[in-house]
Amino acid sequence: MKDSKKLGINSVCVHVGEVKDTQFKGAISPMYMSTSYAFDQVDIKRYPRYFNTPNQEALCKKIAALEHAEAALIFGSGMAAISTAMLAFVKKGDHVVIQQVIYGGTYNLIASEFEKYGIEYSYATSDNVEDFKPLIKSNTKILYIETPSNPLLGITDIKAISSLAKENGLITMIDNTFASPINQNPIDFGIDIVIHSATKYMGGHSDISAGAVAGSKDHIEKIWKTGINFGGNLSDFTVWMLERSLKTLNLRVKEQTRNAQVMAEYLESNPFIDRVFYPGLKSHPQHTLAASQMHGFGAMMSFELKEGIDPMEFQNALKLIKPSMSLAGLESTILSPVKTTHYLLSENERLERGIRDGLIRFSVGIEEPEDLIADLEQAIQKTK
Ligand SMILES: *Cc1c(COP(=O)(O)O)cnc(C)c1O
Repeated sequence: MKDSKKLGINSVCVHVGEVKDTQFKGAISPMYMSTSYAFDQVDIKRYPRYFNTPNQEALCKKIAALEHAEAALIFGSGMAAISTAMLAFVKKGDHVVIQQVIYGGTYNLIASEFEKYGIEYSYATSDNVEDFKPLIKSNTKILYIETPSNPLLGITDIKAISSLAKENGLITMIDNTFASPINQNPIDFGIDIVIHSATKYMGGHSDISAGAVAGSKDHIEKIWKTGINFGGNLSDFTVWMLERSLKTLNLRVKEQTRNAQVMAEYLESNPFIDRVFYPGLKSHPQHTLAASQMHGFGAMMSFELKEGIDPMEFQNALKLIKPSMSLAGLESTILSPVKTTHYLLSENERLERGIRDGLIRFSVGIEEPEDLIADLEQAIQKTK
């Protein structure tokens, strides 16, 4: 394979990290389901939980290339990737600084597991780097961020965070799920470890549960050592499915991102919508920062329905856009954070985070924007 840095993005998606079918010369990677490999034919002990079956090894190369990283690892879920990556770098008595507005599962991991292991943590209450600085202590090991964040699409300054970490000798981790490797490559801004829930854009068809981490060879080896103990590897069938999905990653995400800009501008001009949160809009307070660190603004957004429109009634009136817990599929989906992802927070905690009752999170798919607009219009007319 040629140096993947010299290939265009679609060529990377299609060609980097293939398993060559030397036996039959088939067009695509053969699927190796074997859990056992002869010692005499290979110089390493291949085994699924060692993350080194032929399909796993090949897919890791594709993901590393997509994230401009030296190496990568794939897991059975985004949370397996997040928990393994974090716990690889901390021990009892260590401290981590975490952005407060993060994925709910990550929040729960920290709240329910870290204390048991004696790992300390502090939350930076905004995405401003100034709020991270005073939290760093002598035992701090990790700075953990997520940008754009859920559900209000806040933007954290990736470069500022990585500089702060370097000054203090800390490891940086970012949850890059919402942007996908197509719209944001944090390693180019000095981030150490990039994490994805591959259940989202990387899978993209709402039919795969997977996770990924990418970083330097040394960092990935450290995560690998913890990973073989925790055992969060992905089945080789799903590895193969994910490779297939990644071939169209750029085509899918580019189209979804284009559609999202059209939808955000439509929503912003709609008198029945109070506010739209999308980094691609000039009205987004961090639009300039987003433009400086993202290749595209992504396909996730949220908006507030005008008072008087019941969010649940509105959701149920939609015909094409599906109410759904997950996101990033080819199909457009919608949810009410107050009723789902942020249900466990008190009303005060929600308001503190700017999450109001009429807020709707919108994951824009590949359908034509005019069809999505027609669907939103008829739902608004029915429920206004
Ligand atoms: C879904 C998601 C996760 C968790 O991924 P799973 O595959 O569900 O374990 C982590 N971070 C973000 C931003 C997500 O959207």
